Amino acid sequence: MTLTPSSLPDTPAMPVLFIGHGSPMHAIEDSAFSKAWGEMGASLPAPTAILVISAHWMTRGASLVHIGRKPRTIHDFGGFPRALHEAQYPAPGAPDVATATLDLLRDHHAEADLEWGLDHGAWCVLLRMFPKADVPVYQLSLDLSRPLKDHMALARDLRALRRKGVLIVGSGNAVHNLPAMRYGIDAFDWAREFDGRIAGAIERRDYSALAEINPRDPLTRMAHPTIEHFLPLLYTLGAAEEQDNPSFFAEGFDLGSISMRSVLLAA
Ligand code: ZN
Repeated sequence: MTLTPSSLPDTPAMPVLFIGHGSPMHAIEDSAFSKAWGEMGASLPAPTAILVISAHWMTRGASLVHIGRKPRTIHDFGGFPRALHEAQYPAPGAPDVATATLDLLRDHHAEADLEWGLDHGAWCVLLRMFPKADVPVYQLSLDLSRPLKDHMALARDLRALRRKGVLIVGSGNAVHNLPAMRYGIDAFDWAREFDGRIAGAIERRDYSALAEINPRDPLTRMAHPTIEHFLPLLYTLGAAEEQDNPSFFAEGFDLGSISMRSVLLAA
């Protein structure tokens, strides 16, 4: 039998989130941001599964959906303390929901994957939001061969999952320039300007404007020398519906050039 969304039980609509994840250290260190993630996790209705669209799973030519039963914790970083390299997030996978997701994405060149697992864009955030690791989790990759508007269009087709109890979480950063990171600076002017532009569009609910930005525009290139940390935001906003109100449950900067802005969309 092919699993489709209609084979899953209905629930009230789940909210949608975007998390500005920043450094993996937030997974094991208390910060204003990791505290806000924890409080958000505790305040949400219990999800039946969590779908994470992380900046750290990039593919070309297809969007991959991980359908594994036991996603491994991927330590896709280097040079951090041993406690972070040894951290595990042993949540079960969600093969049934993931298979139903592939059905929803049949017009978007999506394929099943058994290689990936949970990269740090997913588990570092979930460790704080759902520390018991008892909710099934799966990831969807970013197909970098697609223009921005295609990512948002794909996300629109994920909306049906919200009424199946699935919590959709985009995990990236509204501003992400690693070479520019500097200690002792709250935020560079260009970082504040781009972050403010994003916040303004979200407050005006002009989500489609964010799928129309030009990655080669000078300010956008400063904020995102590469675009992968911006893309998960397009998934969160694409999965939003008319009745959802946007709000920011974390904001501020890490090391001057990383915006930690996090967004909740809920009716
Ligand atoms: Zn990242």
